[in-house]
Amino acid sequence: MTVTTDITQPIGEFRTDFDLLRQCPRCQRQALPLGYPGALSRADNKTEVCSPCGQVEGLADAWLELGDWNQWNDRPQQALAAYGEVASLLQGAGLGDLLHEWLGQPVELPANGAFWQPRPGQGATEPVVVQASYDVSAAGRASNVDVKAVASEHAAKAGKVRRSLGQTRFRPSLVDGEPQASARLSRQYEVLD
Ligand SMILES: [Zn+2]
Repeated sequence: MTVTTDITQPIGEFRTDFDLLRQCPRCQRQALPLGYPGALSRADNKTEVCSPCGQVEGLADAWLELGDWNQWNDRPQQALAAYGEVASLLQGAGLGDLLHEWLGQPVELPANGAFWQPRPGQGATEPVVVQASYDVSAAGRASNVDVKAVASEHAAKAGKVRRSLGQTRFRPSLVDGEPQASARLSRQYEVLD
């Protein structure tokens, strides 16, 4: 049997300088200037975005932090007001994707990585990973918390994570400015100590 590969090249193909300009991945409107990254996205500190998006993201990020701080300190009214500012800033700038990332699902607070999602391929030892499922109320409290260790020899760690989840505060998901209850979230966590 003979296998042939078609390596025909398209002819008449050329690039203009404009083709080389990358579009801002956030707004899909502004072109990113060549050689100048514009700004780094607050979402991951990696993605290069245009300057206007960077400014809106920076402002929205400050409101998000203020909202989280109020949520953590049992001031739901102030928290909601701040989250509302996040939503209107990002919506107004056409940054619905980022809004969904930040307020589309409950987030464990403080949102500083205290709850680690497992990252594969780190270190030589097998990470202790637990599988948790729970409900989060509109007020940001977890209930019906169920935690199981992924490997049975780590079963003792599950109780610790269950207690932590029961005590933590969540940034709730927001729809049209209203906090939503979320049922049966399923997340994995890596236990670090
Ligand atoms: Zn942009």
